[in-house]
Amino acid sequence: MGDSIFAASVTPGISSEALSFRAVPDDCIFCKIVAGELPAEVIDSDEHTIAFMDINPATRGHALVVPRAHSRDLLEIADEDLTATITAARRLALRMQETIEPAGVNVLNSCGRAAWQSVFHFHLHVIPRYVGDPLELPWIPGPADQDELARVAAKIRGE
Ligand code: 5GP
Ligand code: ZN
Repeated sequence: MGDSIFAASVTPGISSEALSFRAVPDDCIFCKIVAGELPAEVIDSDEHTIAFMDINPATRGHALVVPRAHSRDLLEIADEDLTATITAARRLALRMQETIEPAGVNVLNSCGRAAWQSVFHFHLHVIPRYVGDPLELPWIPGPADQDELARVAAKIRGE
């Protein structure tokens, strides 16, 4: 699952930026699942999204919700697709609550390789949680350095 190869052809005289609005990777496995070209255990779908089981589940019932339209990640996805995808994720969590009855649920997104993203078609993990399951909080909570916290907050606000 390396970097995507983009299908948009290179037209002399037109910059890649100008073409990027219609660039869709031709090796995206989630696009292939959306198109029905790769098999998947689909559990829900609507006009804008599809949900299917993760092939390497973290827990029993671990699923992925993806927009039908390709976008690389959280930074790139259109607001309407993001809204549709989180709405579908909640619908799936409610369905899981009624059917496989987890004790809780994590909805997770990884944005960027450094943040564990490995498939570069936006997706939300819907991970049912059970008492005593093997998942652990991936950071150690501890009090912030208040000056550093204030400095980074100011930076994010653009000050
Ligand atoms: P990420 O690491 O990008 O947050 O999540 C990608 C997820 O996609 C992983 O949990 C991985 O197990 C799952 N995955 C990768 N390839 C396939 C596939 O071909 N089919 C399905 N159903 N899941 C996949
Ligand atoms: Zn895709």
